[in-house]
Amino acid sequence: MKTEEFAGLVHKVVPSRDFMSVDAGECTGCADCVIVCPVFLWKVREGRAVLAADYRERCLECGACWQVCSSGAIRFDFPDSGTGIVVRYG
Ligand code: SF4
Ligand code: SF4
Repeated sequence: MKTEEFAGLVHKVVPSRDFMSVDAGECTGCADCVIVCPVFLWKVREGRAVLAADYRERCLECGACWQVCSSGAIRFDFPDSGTGIVVRYG
């Protein structure tokens, strides 16, 4: 399979609603989310995780940040059907 054919199978539709957030009261500032995010959407400021303002445009929906957060501070649910990462023929 050629690269361009593979790339044509997936595209992004920016979700119209938030699908991820962090509860600052639960966050310990461990920075594990910062380490695992493949597209660098997390930072720790003043001991608390902060999600990039444009995450809806850039998030890959891998769920790694949600999975690695041992304090349960991250809320993650997938965008509505037909938005976010859309796999053609999927
Ligand atoms: S992994 Fe969870 S507890 Fe650690 S900095 Fe990120 S949001 Fe906070
Ligand atoms: S779901 Fe994946 S890409 Fe999106 S913010 Fe979390 S680690 Fe980063």
